Amino acid sequence: MNKNARGSLIRPVPLPDSASWPVVTPLSPSVVYASETPDALDAQYEGAVHGYTYSREGHPNADVVAIRIDAMEGAEGGVVTSSGMAAVTAVLMGLLETGDHVIGGNQLYGRSLRLMAEDLPRLGINTTLADPGDVEAMRAAVRPETRMILVEVVSNPTLRLADIEGLAALCREKGLLLVVDNTFTTPRAIRPFELGADIVIHSITKLLAGHSDVMLGYAVARDPELNDRLRVFSVTTGLTPSPFDCWLAERGLLSFDLRYDRAQATAAALADHLAKLPGVKRVIYPTRSDHPDLALSQALLKGQGCNMVSFELNGDRAAANAFARAADGLSFAPTLGDVGTTLSHPASSSHRALTSENRAALGISEGFFRVSVGLEDPEALKQVFTTAIAEATVTS
Ligand SMILES: *Cc1c(COP(=O)(O)O)cnc(C)c1O
Repeated sequence: MNKNARGSLIRPVPLPDSASWPVVTPLSPSVVYASETPDALDAQYEGAVHGYTYSREGHPNADVVAIRIDAMEGAEGGVVTSSGMAAVTAVLMGLLETGDHVIGGNQLYGRSLRLMAEDLPRLGINTTLADPGDVEAMRAAVRPETRMILVEVVSNPTLRLADIEGLAALCREKGLLLVVDNTFTTPRAIRPFELGADIVIHSITKLLAGHSDVMLGYAVARDPELNDRLRVFSVTTGLTPSPFDCWLAERGLLSFDLRYDRAQATAAALADHLAKLPGVKRVIYPTRSDHPDLALSQALLKGQGCNMVSFELNGDRAAANAFARAADGLSFAPTLGDVGTTLSHPASSSHRALTSENRAALGISEGFFRVSVGLEDPEALKQVFTTAIAEATVTS
């Protein structure tokens, strides 16, 4: 019942009645929600009825996104956060205690690595990095106070695979939480809960939203009690997302399956095409027979690849500059999962802080590029690469 139906005071003016309803989720930017009486509010806080109070605590647009990603992951009760890093932070800082130890994959997303290397140790949480494709290396890093292992399924930018099932078995044996950042692979390629993971993280910013116009994250635990802790931590620390960002992300999610399938098919074709070009030294793609983790890739991704292709030009920084300049119509930009194809050059961006020896150990030279394949016409895209690579490797 609305007390001010004629709208003579400032708030609230009720919406006009309608026997029909919108097909698009309404955007609900309201920061606060009004209740009828203190008793009604009590009923809400006690959980007898569902209702919103204050948007940092939750709002319809975030809930709609959470419900959709929950369904994709085969999960329940996921939390949407203001960025992918907010989700990583909620999991690491919301669930670990001072004195705990956590093991991370040694090729995690750059900011996740930084959180592990700088911020957790400052709070007395010790960290170790190890190769997530090598269960025995991970096992060797386990200590009595280890609580958690955090990995990504496919690493950036060398596209190496984590042994998710092997790590799940190790975690079960040792009583650890296995946390999988599924951003690169998405639930279209792998659903980590089905392989024994305990917590799944996404940067919705990337493929799930898919249009590079919104920054959001998501985290969900299999255990409802851990989900409650993630939710309370993100509400208390203000990691909550904005309704408009959630509204945009939902719009992106509606076409996610189609976008993923198209980008992946194009990426596989582009990888094979690049491997035939004389200016290309090496191509990395999970389904190619020369991929170092082919067996793992087939076991985990079931013949699928992903929308990312990495390759090495025959040439140095000058060739890399020439290629970026000549790759007309592709954005040279440090993100992934956009509708348009983007190029990244790890030596000058994500991996610039490493020494060139450390980069060389990872196989990242000045000629190394990571391609996030978008939705362009596959033949047109191949043509752009053919031309730009020929130009770059001749002029250098
Ligand atoms: C981008 C990314 C993140 C961080 O997400 P943001 O939305 O940029 O904060 C975390 N993990 C992976 C694998 C990513 O690619």
